[in-house]
Amino acid sequence: MTLKQSLTFGSLTLVALAGLSLPTAFASSTSADNAEADASEAAAVEQSAFRKALKFGFSGQEIQGGVMLGDAPAGTRSLTLDGEPVLVAEDGKFIIAFNRDAGQSAQMVATLENGETVRKYFNIAPRSWKIEHVNVARRSGGPSAAFMALRMPELEQINAARQVQSGSQGWRQTFIWPAKGRISGMFGSQRIYQGEPGSYHSGVDIAGATGTDFVAPADGVVTLAAEKPFSLEGNLLMIDHGMGLNSAFLHASEILVEVGQEVKRGQTIGRIGATGRATGPHLHWSMKWNDARIDPILLTGPMG
Ligand SMILES: [Zn+2]
Repeated sequence: MTLKQSLTFGSLTLVALAGLSLPTAFASSTSADNAEADASEAAAVEQSAFRKALKFGFSGQEIQGGVMLGDAPAGTRSLTLDGEPVLVAEDGKFIIAFNRDAGQSAQMVATLENGETVRKYFNIAPRSWKIEHVNVARRSGGPSAAFMALRMPELEQINAARQVQSGSQGWRQTFIWPAKGRISGMFGSQRIYQGEPGSYHSGVDIAGATGTDFVAPADGVVTLAAEKPFSLEGNLLMIDHGMGLNSAFLHASEILVEVGQEVKRGQTIGRIGATGRATGPHLHWSMKWNDARIDPILLTGPMG
């Protein structure tokens, strides 16, 4: 096993599980015989190299709503995060992310080329979300039957779009802002209605005039382009960036791409609007990695 060149990220060593056998030569080197002592020394060096080769590289933040790019040793057979499979590209690169409400730790388990199992624990930093207490009751009674009849097929389309594995390589890129403008809503912000929490804001809102172009933040494949406005999202556009990472753009006045179309980072894909449930024209951009809702700002950095 060789050290991969791509360990340029801040590296973290995965600790080998207890009870794993050392190479036989190392374990049996108790004889005082010189030849065997040499062999033992060589084995110790080998063992040291082997431990180095167990290194996984990571970049990104161990933080709620955060995303990390990873780099696995060559030949890694499988990878899971909290028991869920993580896809690994042929070159060993992979992506993981932590949900907005992720707990304090997450566990990664890898099966290496030689069959050995190693694991790593992430310490996920909590965020202080913008919480607003309002002295009004949360809407009671739940959605009406008429609303649900309209909503169910929309949710089915959204879920189907999220299942698409397009093979896009956009997940490897540095993401850019799909539009520039005042940030009118932060990811994760939440209202508490007389002590009862409402659902948190699932994306970032960028204010902009109706008709303003917005672009793809990274390469991807269009997985949903609403033919008519959805009840909440309005004209909804979804893009798969590969490896379980996807973007959704809500409230568009116009969608300029079609399902199945490949888009490039920076390509104009739609126009800002106020369709669906929106108080004014803006672009709502939300991102998910598998089931984890993530904060787009952690992929783009602050707006330049
Ligand atoms: Zn929003």
